[in-house]
Amino acid sequence: MERIQVHDKTFVPLLTADQISLRVAALAKQIGEDYKEKRPLLLAVLNGSFMFAADLFRLLAIDAEISFIKIASYQGMRSSGKVVTAIGMEQDLSGRDVLLIEDIVDTGKTLHHFIPTLLQQHPASVRVATFLHKPDATVYPVSLSYVGFEIPDRFVVGYGLDYDGLGRNHHQVYQLATGDADES
Ligand code: 5GP
Repeated sequence: MERIQVHDKTFVPLLTADQISLRVAALAKQIGEDYKEKRPLLLAVLNGSFMFAADLFRLLAIDAEISFIKIASYQGMRSSGKVVTAIGMEQDLSGRDVLLIEDIVDTGKTLHHFIPTLLQQHPASVRVATFLHKPDATVYPVSLSYVGFEIPDRFVVGYGLDYDGLGRNHHQVYQLATGDADES
């Protein structure tokens, strides 16, 4: 694989398409076993997770539903700070086994703030499947049940992940080249 240019930055190969498809298949098998006879509701967090969610979902050999949401965060009126809500969440989650599908867990902030919002609807269970995890960057406690790959704390693109709108359509994952400043 060659290095690529996205906007003003250079990226180098990190994960091949083969590595990704093998790992996604293994995750789908594991999830299929863990949720056998449970009919989970996958909630894919847009935009970045759409490719991972589609590949994972088509390999699931059990009855399952999928829905797509966007997470929006804004500063609340009170001192308690951030309010995190989901856009596009129409399902009743009560009693459901919810599996959140994320592209990447970086600091963990998004999920740390969002999961309590989900729990207010009394799902039977909430777990997280993330394609990528940057353990060295994670500062908010989040429990991750399924992780595709643990990667270094450098900005990545490809397989659904973008840099300022571009780079999502690569089959591979690329990381920012050393020497290119990481401003993420
Ligand atoms: P967190 O709240 O865990 O810090 O960040 C999660 C979100 O930040 C991800 O869903 C993703 O949209 C974005 N993000 C974090 N790291 C990266 C990265 O290396 N590349 C891209 N494209 N997005 C990232």
